[in-house]
Amino acid sequence: MGEAHYLEHEVHGWAARDCSGVLSPFKFSRRATGPRDVTFKVLYCGICHSDLHQIRNEWQNSKYPMVPGHEFVGIVTEIGPEVHQHKVGDHVGVGCMVGSCQNCDSCAKGAEQYCECMTPTYNDVDQDGKPTYGGYSALMVCDERFVLQIPKSLPLDAAAPLLCAGITVYSPLRYFGMDEAGKSLGVVGLGGLGHMAVKFGKAFGMNVTVISTSPSKEEEARLILNADNFLVSKNDQQMKKAVKTLDYIIDTVSAKHELEPLLSLLKVNGKLVLVGGPEEPLQLNPFAILFGRKTVAGSTIGGIKETQDMLDFCGVHNLISTIETIPFEYVNKAMDRLAKSDVKYRFVIDVANTL
Ligand code: NAP
Ligand code: ZN
Repeated sequence: MGEAHYLEHEVHGWAARDCSGVLSPFKFSRRATGPRDVTFKVLYCGICHSDLHQIRNEWQNSKYPMVPGHEFVGIVTEIGPEVHQHKVGDHVGVGCMVGSCQNCDSCAKGAEQYCECMTPTYNDVDQDGKPTYGGYSALMVCDERFVLQIPKSLPLDAAAPLLCAGITVYSPLRYFGMDEAGKSLGVVGLGGLGHMAVKFGKAFGMNVTVISTSPSKEEEARLILNADNFLVSKNDQQMKKAVKTLDYIIDTVSAKHELEPLLSLLKVNGKLVLVGGPEEPLQLNPFAILFGRKTVAGSTIGGIKETQDMLDFCGVHNLISTIETIPFEYVNKAMDRLAKSDVKYRFVIDVANTL
């Protein structure tokens, strides 16, 4: 067991200072390792489009300075005396939450992401009144209940995106029963979340169709991600031919877009689940779902137990993200590329080697 650490930790990271979203080096402190805390050296952190929305204040609730990052992994260096689930040397990670009330119905059901008091990993205030800072930083201190075990068989860099991109698509696929072998799954938007949805769909034995605005992504979607079909959403002919062919759709698009063409692809009783967070509302024409008794639903990340189940599933199936690893110096360039959908399929910051 690591020695208890009574001093605050001085931590180096990168932060955005205002809504320009430009990231630059930033020094801050994290609390001393408490009785139930796990402290770990951060090795890798994925870049989620939510980081981009938030550094640029696109959801209009940004607090600065902001240290983003909610899919990061590393190695435990210290634990508090009451920690039972993790030990020094373990491969661990933290996703989008670092706290919840532990008392409400959602927490009791293992759906902490829907707890009214859920504390996001960054851009919020922790129980101790200090700002929460995310994984674009060298070291993390977190309540053990929000720390996940990363299967040792998985490479840490490509496992990092499982903690947000992975669980955000895995949770609704499981919850809404969109995981049946032999059924057809449409995945809209082939970015970080989308490519993980393709991988899970294939692991569940489904027939997967990518629906994308980028014709240039087709070849690799078929060859590398094993997608069965690829539709260019702006190609009316292709879209028309695919009407009523899909059982389920997961929509990961980060910007405003039309739902009607997507809903037309669903069979009777089909379901479309939204997980993207565009800054502007989408339009829903009731007639697009009345005829065909279709469901439109939403979902956000996943509970802690469910996230661990997903990581264990990935360990067994050797399922990881397809990544482009970058140094911190490249992070602003990476954000510009992400804004243009120019990523295959997740940027991961090599935190420990480039701070
Ligand atoms: P990403 O890597 O940027 O992927 C988004 C993809 O959407 C793009 O690659 C692009 O795919 C497509 N797209 C972009 N602009 C579009 C437009 N105007 N019209 C149609 N398609 C467009 O982003 P991500 O990290 O996967 O995140 C996706 C969204 O999910 C973001 O809004 C993010 O904030 C949100 N999110 C939600 C949760 C949650 O808990 N619900 C968790 C994480 C992220 P193509 O090139 O294939 O068209
Ligand atoms: Zn995310």
